[in-house]
Amino acid sequence: MTVATTAVPESARAGLTTTQAHRLLATVGTNALPVTRGPQAWRMLLGQFTHFFALMLWAATGFALLAGMPQLAVAIVVVILVNGGFAFWQEYRADRAADRLRDLMPATATVRRDGRRRTVPVAELVPGDLVLLESGDRVSADLRTVQAVGLAVDESLLTGESVPRRAAGGEALYAGTFVVEGAGEAVVAKTGSATRLAAIAALTRRTPPPRSPLARRLDRVVGVVGASALVVGVLFFGLALLLGTSAMEGFVFALGVTVALVPEGLLPTVTLSLARGAHTMATRKALVKHLEAVETLGSVTFICTDKTGTLTRNEMVVTRVWTPAGTARIDGSGYDPRGTVEATDEVRGAVAEIAYAAVRASSGRLARRDGGWVPSGDPMEVALHVLARRAGVDVTTRERREPTLARHPFDPRLLLSSTLVGDTLYVKGAPESVLARCPAGNGDAALAAHAMADGGLRVLAVARRRGVRRSTVDGALADLTLLGVVGLADPPRPDAAAAVASCRRAGIKLAMVTGDHPGTARAVAEEVGLLGPDRLVLDGPGLPDDDAALAGLLDRDGVVVARVKPEDKLRIANALRARGHVVAMTGDGVNDAPALRAADIGVAMGATGSDVAREAADLVLLDDHFSTIVAAVELGRATFANIRRFLTYHLTDNVAELAPFVAWALTGGRFPLAIGVLQVLALDIGTDLLPALALGAEPPNDRALKGRARTGQLIDRAVLGRAFGVLGPAEVLASLGAFTAVLLLGGWNWGETPPAALAATASGTAFAAIVLGQLANAYACRSESRPVWRVGLRGNPLLPAAIAMELVLLAGFLGVPPLARLLGGTWPAAAGWLLAAAAIPVVLFADAAAKAVRARTRKQPFREGGV
Ligand code: ADP
Ligand code: MG
Repeated sequence: MTVATTAVPESARAGLTTTQAHRLLATVGTNALPVTRGPQAWRMLLGQFTHFFALMLWAATGFALLAGMPQLAVAIVVVILVNGGFAFWQEYRADRAADRLRDLMPATATVRRDGRRRTVPVAELVPGDLVLLESGDRVSADLRTVQAVGLAVDESLLTGESVPRRAAGGEALYAGTFVVEGAGEAVVAKTGSATRLAAIAALTRRTPPPRSPLARRLDRVVGVVGASALVVGVLFFGLALLLGTSAMEGFVFALGVTVALVPEGLLPTVTLSLARGAHTMATRKALVKHLEAVETLGSVTFICTDKTGTLTRNEMVVTRVWTPAGTARIDGSGYDPRGTVEATDEVRGAVAEIAYAAVRASSGRLARRDGGWVPSGDPMEVALHVLARRAGVDVTTRERREPTLARHPFDPRLLLSSTLVGDTLYVKGAPESVLARCPAGNGDAALAAHAMADGGLRVLAVARRRGVRRSTVDGALADLTLLGVVGLADPPRPDAAAAVASCRRAGIKLAMVTGDHPGTARAVAEEVGLLGPDRLVLDGPGLPDDDAALAGLLDRDGVVVARVKPEDKLRIANALRARGHVVAMTGDGVNDAPALRAADIGVAMGATGSDVAREAADLVLLDDHFSTIVAAVELGRATFANIRRFLTYHLTDNVAELAPFVAWALTGGRFPLAIGVLQVLALDIGTDLLPALALGAEPPNDRALKGRARTGQLIDRAVLGRAFGVLGPAEVLASLGAFTAVLLLGGWNWGETPPAALAATASGTAFAAIVLGQLANAYACRSESRPVWRVGLRGNPLLPAAIAMELVLLAGFLGVPPLARLLGGTWPAAAGWLLAAAAIPVVLFADAAAKAVRARTRKQPFREGGV
């Protein structure tokens, strides 16, 4: 698919026409890498039947056959199939969900077509297209530069070399690399599968990705539970021997118990929960780049947010221009180029000159499309173009006459950007940095800039220098002549204040970390209610050098840190993490990448941020809103809570399943075995499956953002306490109680072996009691703090359906005679059903009592994790 470049210099500079581009696209195909499929489906399926636990189960099947217990062997095979199939299905769905998320990632390139600047989807680039590159951009096809100013590309992805490579005109750039400095224009040479990246991707696809930390942690949980099951099994084996069972029979029996107690399906259920969380986040415009981030988001304790575009709308308008001749007020709405400059004629002339200089020092433009005006590029720069039009300057025509010779895009360290046109260098940037480069006294300008900043305006100073030669442009950022100061309004987003308030309620600390002027930052912080009680406004250069001191200073709510450099952001993220915070940090520029990586959750802007930042981030905000971060945190907490819900549910069942064996063993067989191994399996892979899944899909409730984040382990003391201390024992009481009652009513006396028919109905009753207890348990697990009657029965549409299925299965297990005979428990009599149904109030009451005790013994009302 190699296509010769149409690199005739002058036609290249104008770019292709749209018609040419479309025709080429039809012949060479889209600029996309061949779809990278995850592991093939059959491999995933095979994996589910060959991992450690599955192998253990196969071994158990073999032993069961050897011991002459074919029913048990069949049952274990059913366990393997159901578990493996179920796990496969969940993993497959989680995988697909992750794929879909990747497709949502915004990917566009700026090209020149029909002689105009255009933003097109990366997939539509064709050989011959003229791509305009700027620092922060991802190179989206294999290119050849035709012009480059200070261009440097990070090629570490392809070469492993971490030092950026300088690229002059006429050099090759490769897809997948990033422009980290400078600007340039380049012609597309190869696209899609013809690129070098495609060749490398084909190689790497063969190596499977490493296991994620969450997967490893869950492996450990499953391992611990599995090991306990094994210990129980061994003890059981010993007891069976003591009681005189044959070694083989005892061994297989013990094996069955172990099999029943291992939570094989846990990891895929968790993965699916995370995938579901990620999917919901995507519908709320928050894109997580990997499933782990869903969990981390739920435990965020500190958010460092920038200001422009996140808390504010990033729809800027110039409202004031200071010139040495006087100040002008600008009126007009949005991007509409109509508007007025209220000033004297002399000032108006100066404003026109400032506007022209400022637009030349920018690349963002207002473009005409379909009869309306659309912004293209940095909104602040677009606002300057709007100003130029309002001041009656036709930049576009003049630009055609005097083309740009060299462009230095905004550098967040220098806080300015510049462009060389003919022999004139146009500069715009933060007032401190521009004024410091203007030798003439500029006291008035500085005062004007201060006043504008204190009023919440974003401020830019504009200057120029004449007589600059192209070869010396790099050293020309001095001896500038100040033209004027521009003030831009950028009102807060309407939902920012509410989102800030939600963070407060959620116990999350907030800091504004911005490159902007302290005055502007303070004004905006105040407006959205972010500024804390200490009213602390720090500035980047004044931050303490000692990291511990820095963290101490920042570790409070509502600090504003202004004029920060990207390096400061990195230090801030690290310092807060060292104090034990789980930090989310936003960033949009190239240099923010290290801070985004260092933070627990790096947040990048999907609409305006650079490709570099998006690549480094864990979370991409498709709409750039601060409130979207808060929504993502809320969903992260909800997902975390859901995982804990079904963990509690599963573990409770394990207690109820284990208790009959323990009772039987501890009484030396005098208390008959209430349920058998096959019944345990029927619970685990039958009745329990769907309610657990439904619990994992519990929608977030309005409590998710109340109270502190629940950091740490999925299985902690609270989960274990509830499963092993409250819910489990309640279920045991109900099922063994019902079992004993049926036996006694049937005339059984302690120590006797009950007649087979009586034992079977009693066992059926015990089984029914556990299933009904689990039914109540499912509802109890919907909240960690409130009794069922306060949560209500509604709110989770999946649960009633799952419960209905559970009851159908229960009826089947007990009511279909061959099945009932196989499992060893038969349909209870009416009294038996009544006794079994008592499990529901017993579980609910025990749950409510424990929650009440817990709420009372806590100093504060129970308010963790939002469930
Ligand atoms: P923020 O945290 O608000 O996004 P930035 O780091 O983007 O702040 O900007 C810091 C300062 O740099 C701004 O106050 C402004 O004076 C200047 N600045 C920002 N963008 C540009 C630009 N495109 N060209 C020139 N100067 C800029
Ligand atoms: Mg910015």
